Amino acid sequence: MSVAIYPGSFDPMTNGHLSIIKSGLVVFDKLIVAVLRNPRKEALFTVEERVEMIREELGSVGGDVEVDSFDGLLVEYCKKKNVRVVLRGLRAVADFEYELQMANMNRHLNTQVETVFLMANDAYFYVSSNIVKEAWRLGGDVTRLVPKSIAHRLDEKMAETKRG
Ligand code: ADP
Repeated sequence: MSVAIYPGSFDPMTNGHLSIIKSGLVVFDKLIVAVLRNPRKEALFTVEERVEMIREELGSVGGDVEVDSFDGLLVEYCKKKNVRVVLRGLRAVADFEYELQMANMNRHLNTQVETVFLMANDAYFYVSSNIVKEAWRLGGDVTRLVPKSIAHRLDEKMAETKRG
């Protein structure tokens, strides 16, 4: 069975992430969506919330997808899960350099792990969690850029923030 790990911050998951997961399931039998616990990045949602939100959404996607979280080195997590393929999505050229650096570093750290890139769906080429959060914070309508359940969570978060 072919398995790939799809790692990321997913703060929150967008339609872009979802389209990579759907495309990933065309190529691999199983995906492990792995939310990175990164103390250096300030996040809107906790790792637990992000895992729950992805699980909730993936219920309707079908396919063999596990949702997990990890910290530390991705290659160590790959070893622990006994998986040798990392899946990443590529958007505009802006992603390219960073993704190449990461893939090369991971190969340097563990030659057993390969990174596979899938191209973003053109409808979501310019969608990132950060840009969604920025627009949402300013009251913009992001409902076409994230799954419905995630838009709902964003609204809840807004109400929570307002309550202080
Ligand atoms: P990270 O902080 O590790 O970049 P992200 O959650 O932002 O985590 O992204 C995880 C992966 O999903 C990355 O490979 C990123 O390029 C990809 N990705 C993010 N947004 C999109 C999108 N709109 N379309 C395709 N891939 C995307």
